[in-house]
Amino acid sequence: MEHPVIDLRSDTVTRPTPEMRRAMAQAVVGDDVLGDDPTVIDLQERVAELMGKEAACFVPTGTMANQAAIRAQTEPGDEVIAHEDSHIIHYETGSPAALSGVMIRPARGDRGLYDADQLDELHRAPSIHAPASRLVLIENTQNRGGGAVWPIEQIIRVTGRAAELGLRRHLDGARIWNACAATGLAPADYARHFDTVSCCFSKGLGAPAGSAVAGDRAIIARVARFRKMFGGTMRQSGILAAAALHALERHRDRLTDDHANARRLAEGIAQIPGLSIDPVGVETNMVFFLVGPSIGTAAEFCVRLRSMGVLMLPNAPRRVRAVCHLDVNRQAIDEAIRKVEQAARAAVLV
Ligand SMILES: *Cc1c(COP(=O)(O)O)cnc(C)c1O
Repeated sequence: MEHPVIDLRSDTVTRPTPEMRRAMAQAVVGDDVLGDDPTVIDLQERVAELMGKEAACFVPTGTMANQAAIRAQTEPGDEVIAHEDSHIIHYETGSPAALSGVMIRPARGDRGLYDADQLDELHRAPSIHAPASRLVLIENTQNRGGGAVWPIEQIIRVTGRAAELGLRRHLDGARIWNACAATGLAPADYARHFDTVSCCFSKGLGAPAGSAVAGDRAIIARVARFRKMFGGTMRQSGILAAAALHALERHRDRLTDDHANARRLAEGIAQIPGLSIDPVGVETNMVFFLVGPSIGTAAEFCVRLRSMGVLMLPNAPRRVRAVCHLDVNRQAIDEAIRKVEQAARAAVLV
């Protein structure tokens, strides 16, 4: 496929910059299965430091980060409390069931967030009949919730209640960097409320691959064991770790540009007849908007946009998702707004 003009399907579509490729080419590497890739060791130490944890484990994907963390902290027959719109429920191929033998008990609330009262409702008292409540999961930012940021007070309420109930706590921080860019909080300000935290380098940070899990030494040793079991322990992975280190140092501060672009895109879309969006709900780099019946379905609208050189993803029958990232600048966003307007107008005329 010829590369389309403006690709807003996801912040995973970014290609490594020339500087990142240079950092990868120059990486000092070893065999990480034998524990001696110095660049992987550097990255793990850097992530542990940023998260305020004892240790971290580099893994190929965010899915493996979450699943190794779940496997490390549960036994088959246990239950994980997570929002019904969680990535682990919708986009990880049922792996909590397949790899850990656990059930998920879905929590409810607006924008993918829930509060401590949900734990009181969903937590199960120990019983010979029931699954054992074991782990609470929070996703920040919340992907299907529109890139929503959890207020830190709400995280403190939920994780505090979880601790009182004897539950372990995992943060799916695939986009924790966006949460930090939006609030000015440090990663450790979030991470201190959790036993384990996952994060991705391959989303807004723009690395080609890689994620990590941070926690105390004992739990990270278990995560590393399950990484091996799941087939995710790599050899000269310092080449990828170099990209992640470069992304952490060079691409974190600029996430606020993506947030400003997302807000601009949302404000543009809000002006277009037939489309609806509340720009106030755009807190980070994600923009979700609704396509009115006069225009057709979200999927039809995305096909039309594609023919005009703008890529977005239908995410529900009437809902379209657009994500800002380091390969789209402000001019590209303005161009995308014009194309969206043309596509909407053409649809109404048909
Ligand atoms: C992308 C993402 C992941 C992990 O996805 P991979 O494609 O496996 O790297 C996990 N959680 C959330 C919230 C995500 O958006």
